[in-house]
Amino acid sequence: MSKVLIIGAGGVSGVLVHKCAALPEVFSEIMLASRTKSKCDAIAAQLDRPIQTAQVNADHVPELVELIQSFGPELVINVALPYQDLHIMDACLETGVHYLDTANYEPEDTAKFEYQWQWDYHERFKDAGIMALLGSGFDPGVTSVFCTYIQKHHLDEIHTIDIIDVNAGDHGYPFATNFNPEINIREVTSKGRYWAKGEWIETAPLSIKRSFEVPENIGTPNIYLMYHEELESLGKHIPGLQRARFWMSFGDAYLKHLEVLGNVGMTRIDEVEFNGQKIVPLQFLKALLPDPASLGPRTKGKTWIGCQVTGIKKGESKTFTIYNTSDHEACYAEVQSQAISYTTGVPCMIGSKMILEKKWTGKGVFNIEQMDPDPFMDNLNTYGLPWKIINGPVAKLD
Ligand code: NDP
Repeated sequence: MSKVLIIGAGGVSGVLVHKCAALPEVFSEIMLASRTKSKCDAIAAQLDRPIQTAQVNADHVPELVELIQSFGPELVINVALPYQDLHIMDACLETGVHYLDTANYEPEDTAKFEYQWQWDYHERFKDAGIMALLGSGFDPGVTSVFCTYIQKHHLDEIHTIDIIDVNAGDHGYPFATNFNPEINIREVTSKGRYWAKGEWIETAPLSIKRSFEVPENIGTPNIYLMYHEELESLGKHIPGLQRARFWMSFGDAYLKHLEVLGNVGMTRIDEVEFNGQKIVPLQFLKALLPDPASLGPRTKGKTWIGCQVTGIKKGESKTFTIYNTSDHEACYAEVQSQAISYTTGVPCMIGSKMILEKKWTGKGVFNIEQMDPDPFMDNLNTYGLPWKIINGPVAKLD
């Protein structure tokens, strides 16, 4: 029986709140707080049980501290934006409350994300006797747990990891992003990077691609090598790892729009002068694009996200593939959200449940792959993200 404070009321939050509300024996009281309270109230109105809602600006630590102290949660779940991570961690430190998020910190004025800023909180969280669990979404999140599950049950040592994220859904718009457009476009337009033998190899944005015949007849999209945050933490936490890469599918129309928008300066994140006012082009673009939350009722098709992992078992080379497929329409029917938010919101609920049930404990700052994968993997099957494991590769990537 535990109280949780959820911060942020966007696409991921909608799913998370539905899933937490359905488990009153774990999440006994829920408060949902965000910058725009009406969005919290709209989510609350979809539920079968009452939750509290509040307005908070998560960039203001004193406001957060006051809210945490007045509600008294055991855990704060951050599903606002990566810009808020450190502020919310500061507030958790000041109030002695556990912290969980799904995306690593990113400064607003630089398109650069890395764990170091949050890892630097480790000693302070340890001294305060509280836990911060980083990256409890799908990727990062489930993908990292997939790797530790293979490490624990199928291989003596992991040598390579290829994380593949395919969205074969169609929302019918010429161009839209499946989660926050600003965060999505910053991520996709960044340089590619992968981890090999302890070093980062940098590539031009979206310059390396492969064709991937996705299992279960989901399609044959092009997948592109990108940098993704879990590569950094897996490189640190998986002993013996020699290479880690991340691939994501993009349709030709999406890439063409992105190229044009980039060429005309619409994806810039620095301020420009317009009619006597300063605007950030990417933030303006966000205002024009469809709200990701509005894609739910229109999106058809499936997602396929998995890890192809090689290594050795009793001296023999082996490859395993472990994955989940989700159906956009089925997700919408369950929680009024498309599969991208669903596949993030469900593991966010499960990671929170692991902390509240004390299946995952620790003092300090932890990435999800530092935890025992088994109870989390069981919960994925129970709460809407069943997974499969194949003995062998599914993608030709070299
Ligand atoms: P949305 O943009 O839909 O929602 C973000 C929410 O945060 C909005 O309600 C927004 O408020 C609120 N917010 C923003 N700034 C503040 C602030 N200063 N104070 C309080 N609330 C604030 O994003 P998503 O739901 O798509 O994504 C949520 C998080 O999940 C992001 O960090 C994203 O990177 C992460 N993510 C992780 C994935 C994973 O697999 N690990 C996959 C997808 C997303 P307002 O409504 O007023 O704008």
